[in-house]
Amino acid sequence: MEVNYLSLFKRFFSSQDTIFDYSSLNRNPLSSFDFSTNLQQFLSGRALLFEELSEFHEILEEHIVHGYAGWFQGLSVKNGQYICGRCGNCDKHLFTEFPCSRCSHSCVYCRKCIMMGRVSSCSKLFTWTGPTFQFSRQLNPLAWEGTLSEAQNSASQQAVEAVEQNKELLVWAVCGAGKTEILFHAVEKALQNGKRVCLATPRTDVVLELVPRFRTVFPQTEIAALYGGSDERHLAGQLVISTTHQLFRFQEAFDVLIIDEVDAFPYSADYSLQAASQKSRKKISSRIFLTATPSSLLKSQVKRGKLNSVIIPARFHRKPIPVPQLVWSGSWEKSFRKKKIPPKMQHWISFRLQNSIPFLIFFPAIKTMEQALPLFQKLHNDIAAVHAEDPDRKEKVVSLREGKVPGLLTTTILERGVTIPRLEAAVIGAEELIFTESALVQIAGRVGRKADFPTGDVTFFHYGKTESMLSAVRHIKMMNKQAREKGLVDE
Ligand SMILES: [Zn+2]
Ligand SMILES: [Zn+2]
Repeated sequence: MEVNYLSLFKRFFSSQDTIFDYSSLNRNPLSSFDFSTNLQQFLSGRALLFEELSEFHEILEEHIVHGYAGWFQGLSVKNGQYICGRCGNCDKHLFTEFPCSRCSHSCVYCRKCIMMGRVSSCSKLFTWTGPTFQFSRQLNPLAWEGTLSEAQNSASQQAVEAVEQNKELLVWAVCGAGKTEILFHAVEKALQNGKRVCLATPRTDVVLELVPRFRTVFPQTEIAALYGGSDERHLAGQLVISTTHQLFRFQEAFDVLIIDEVDAFPYSADYSLQAASQKSRKKISSRIFLTATPSSLLKSQVKRGKLNSVIIPARFHRKPIPVPQLVWSGSWEKSFRKKKIPPKMQHWISFRLQNSIPFLIFFPAIKTMEQALPLFQKLHNDIAAVHAEDPDRKEKVVSLREGKVPGLLTTTILERGVTIPRLEAAVIGAEELIFTESALVQIAGRVGRKADFPTGDVTFFHYGKTESMLSAVRHIKMMNKQAREKGLVDE
C-alpha cells in the first residue's frame, strides 16, 4: 500500500501548518525477502523509537535494507521551528536543549511527549513499510450473557452499523446508562471481520476499569492495555484499550476507534491528542464517540447533519436522573475566612451525617478546600479531602464506599467514574468557572446510580446563578423528559 505521508500529515496538522519530513521512507519492499511476522505485527500501525524496539534490534536493519521497515526523523525543522514527529508539537516553549550522550552534541528534545520516552533531534521513529499485518477473523469472540435495555439496544445497533459501514457516530448516553455494554456487539462485529479496534479514553482510571470487563467478555481476543507505566506495550493487541496519550505511538493502525469520555480533560482541551487520535485511525475506518456531556462542537456537528448520533436519555435502572437544587448561600469565601461554614451548607452536611448518607462535596480549588477542611472536621473527625495529586485518592474513595469515612471533600477530579450506593453530592461555589455545564451534569450523575437507591439529593450551593448551572439543570430535565416520552422510565 502506497502512503503519501506528506499529504497525510498536512491533513492532520493543517491547522498548525506543520509538515513532517518522511522523505527518508522507502516504501518499495522487495518481494524476495523472508520478513519477520513478529516485527510485522509489532510495528504495523506504529511509529516507535529505537529504544522501544529492543527485542528487534538485531533484525531491524535488514528489514530496513529490504524495504520492510523505515524511519523518519524524530524532530524536523520547518522555517526555523522544530516539529515533533510523534506528537506534532511545534510550540517552541516545549522544546529544550540538553547535552546528549547518544550523539555527543547539544540536542533538542520535545517536552510535550517526554513521558513516553525522549524524542530528540538525533532520534528516529521507526515504522513498518511492508505488507500490513492481518488480524484473524474471530467466529464467536463475545462471551456475554447479559441483556441490553431497550435504550441500550437501539444504540448498540447503531454502533454495529457504524462499524460495518465505516461511519462516525456519537453515542450520547446519560451517566448510569450503561454505555460500556453498548459497545459489546460493535466490538464483536469488528473482531468477526478481522478488524483492529481501539477503545481510548483520556483517563488511566477508566482504562484500568475497562480492561478486566473486556477480558471477561472477549476471552479469546488479545487485548493490550496501554497507559503510562503499563507493561503491555509489547502486545500488538487486536483490541487495544488505551489512554488517548498512548495514541501518539500509533499511525494508521485502527479500523475502529472508540473514544470514551471524549469531553474529559485533557483530551477535550489538547489539540495534539485529538490530532493523535486522528493519526491513529486508518483512512477507511469508523469512529464512535461516547459521552454523557458532548461539547458544543460535537452537538453542532450533529445539528448540521455532519455526525450521526444516538441519545440514551435514561439510566439502566429506569429511574429519572436527580435534578439538582440551586441554593443561594451567600459569600462562602467570606464565611470560610471567618472560620464558619455557611448555615445552609452546614445543615445539608449535618443531615447526611445524622442519617449516615455518604456524600461528596465538590470545591472549585484545592486551596479553598484545604483551608475549609478543619471546619468540616469539626462536624465529623473522619471527613477527608482528595485532589488529583493525592497519592491516597483511591484508598479514600474506597473508605467512603465501605462507610469508613462519612464523606469526602473533593475537587472536580471525582466528577466522573465514582459509583457509590446512596451517595449524595453538593457543590460549593457552583458559580465558579471550573463548574461548567458538563462538570455539573457529571456531578449530578454520581447520585442515584444503583437500582436499590435510584434517587438522592444533589445541591449546588452558589453565590449567584450562572448560565452553566441553569444549563446543567435544563440538560438533566431534558433527558428525563425524553426518557418519559420514550417510555424508558418507570415512576
Ligand atoms: Zn513530541
Ligand atoms: Zn542527540
